[in-house]
Amino acid sequence: MSVNVRIAPSPTGLLHIGNIRAALFNYLFARRMGGTFMLRLDDTDATRSTQEFADAIKRDLGWLGLNWDKFGRQSDRLARYAEVLEQLKLSGRAYPCFETQAELDLKRKTQLGRGLPPVYDRAALKLSEADIAALAAQGRKPHWRFKLDHTEVAWDDMVQGHKSFAASSLSDPVLVREDGVPLYTFCSVVDDVDDSTTHVIRGEDHVTNTVVQIQIWQAITSTPAPVFAHFPLIVSSSGIEMSKRLGTLSIASMRDEMEIEPMAINALLAKLGTSDAIAPRLTLDELAQEFDIGKISHATPKFDLDELKSLNAKILHITPFEAVRERLAALGLSSIDEKFWNFARANITKLSDIRQWWQVAQGPVTPIVTDAAFLSEAAASLPPTPWNDNSWGAWTDALKAKTGRKGKELFMPLRLALTTYDHGPEMKYLLPLIGEKRARDLLAGRAA
Ligand code: GLU
Repeated sequence: MSVNVRIAPSPTGLLHIGNIRAALFNYLFARRMGGTFMLRLDDTDATRSTQEFADAIKRDLGWLGLNWDKFGRQSDRLARYAEVLEQLKLSGRAYPCFETQAELDLKRKTQLGRGLPPVYDRAALKLSEADIAALAAQGRKPHWRFKLDHTEVAWDDMVQGHKSFAASSLSDPVLVREDGVPLYTFCSVVDDVDDSTTHVIRGEDHVTNTVVQIQIWQAITSTPAPVFAHFPLIVSSSGIEMSKRLGTLSIASMRDEMEIEPMAINALLAKLGTSDAIAPRLTLDELAQEFDIGKISHATPKFDLDELKSLNAKILHITPFEAVRERLAALGLSSIDEKFWNFARANITKLSDIRQWWQVAQGPVTPIVTDAAFLSEAAASLPPTPWNDNSWGAWTDALKAKTGRKGKELFMPLRLALTTYDHGPEMKYLLPLIGEKRARDLLAGRAA
């Protein structure tokens, strides 16, 4: 059996750490199983959906490398939903309702006041043909509900195990609003039927939707319903659920403001809340090989921004030069070569930090002078040029013999004067890049 999965974001906001996880899981599952991964926009809500958000979703997924094999949008399929609604009317599974929102709210309040669950009372089912005709004659437009079968709905969830719910505990879901707009619960099933979706992998906030969607599916087709997997939703390290409102954690802000590498996001989210350890990975292929829905735990995963930043650094520390060459050029750092990248990358936590070490190599910097007498002695002992990777060792050995200094006492004044930092890439690589002329200036306390 071929595997077909999809993500169905609504273009009503930016992708964030929560819904990217659904995208990543579906993508990795498709790649692991040799299946197809579809991007389908849930955009029937024309008042809230925008082209800008649709474009941003595509851009963010593309940036993360989560490329889709198939694309679709619900707004292109309105005729199809209308057709399926007719089918459900004929089979008696869709029925017209005329209550206003205010009437429904009042019913709900009354039920709650009596300690009853706020489930729709199916009053509209009691309307006669004549009642319906009379309401229509008044110009009232119905919304359409799906008539649930009051049976147990059960499925074997790939994350949560066996699930079973009494459909009678739920309201008959609205399929189409009075203004004719079909709703997500309905469209999503029609799409999944037509797209031959085999697995629906999504957050556990959709478990109740699954109960009604399985019944809608069965009312539309005799093909077996997809396999479901509902994973626990991420919370922030302070325990707050991630929502679209947490704009600061949108993928766009992590990319544009925090300079997080796409693979840091992918690697963290693929492992968070699973039995695998969080570890740097450079490709989605590696993550796909390791991906297994069975590894997703029931416990609530906590997202910690510091953990993401630390993984970002670890990924940069093993990223090959070829993978960053163009991005360095875009930062105006095209002179950085592979050798420099390889020795300096261990000292960065985000890509643009490399600029700081390049500036140390090229100048100008203003030296930090902690011991002028020692620096002047050091200047007098500088090794012969041209310098290479052994020059620093030769220089500091000679200074050690001359002054009796060793360790930090020997190295730190030199590092501070030559780089202005008390830490950084190995001096043996930096010294030849700083060069004799600049080194003499810096040791003399002059900016260079
Ligand atoms: N639009 C829904 C969401 O983003 C889709 C859920 C689904 O995968 O069916 O939560």
